[in-house]
Amino acid sequence: YELSYHDIRHVMRETVTLLETQAILHSIQIERDFGPDPLWIYGVESQIKQVFINVIKNAIEAMTDGGAIHVHMKRIDNSVRIRIMDEGPGIEDSQLAKMGQPFYTTKDKGTGLGLMVSYKIVDNHQGKIQVYSQLGSGTTFEILLPFRYPDT
Ligand code: ADP
Ligand code: MG
Repeated sequence: YELSYHDIRHVMRETVTLLETQAILHSIQIERDFGPDPLWIYGVESQIKQVFINVIKNAIEAMTDGGAIHVHMKRIDNSVRIRIMDEGPGIEDSQLAKMGQPFYTTKDKGTGLGLMVSYKIVDNHQGKIQVYSQLGSGTTFEILLPFRYPDT
């Protein structure tokens, strides 16, 4: 594994570029707000990218009627906060606890592994994931990762 310092804005830019074609095909716009300052984290780039891919793909798959996905990142004290907000149908309270459990899927061809892997990766990076959802209006995934400046 390659542990090093990354400005997570670059990782997210690459992820969004990767998924944009799929989004456009579904009439979905991905709006970015990354701010002007580098958002440094310490970790494995390919793994962090995998988390972003999983969460944004889920957002795209949830938004069957199109709309916008907002990707917002900013530094808050000693953390980098990443929010991925969709305009999908939302998740019922009773289902929220199942998020991240292996093989939990509501999709015909789902694996139910994407979130489990994502939760593990974030945990291995001393981070946290939280899900906020409102039925009928959408879901927000919030990821917190420790801010780690390369010189400290
Ligand atoms: P999969 O995508 O293969 O189903 P995941 O682990 O990525 O597996 O997601 C598990 C389940 O969580 C999905 O099947 C879906 O029911 C729910 N889910 C995840 N993200 C969202 C979202 N943004 N909006 C609504 N439901 C979601
Ligand atoms: Mg998935």
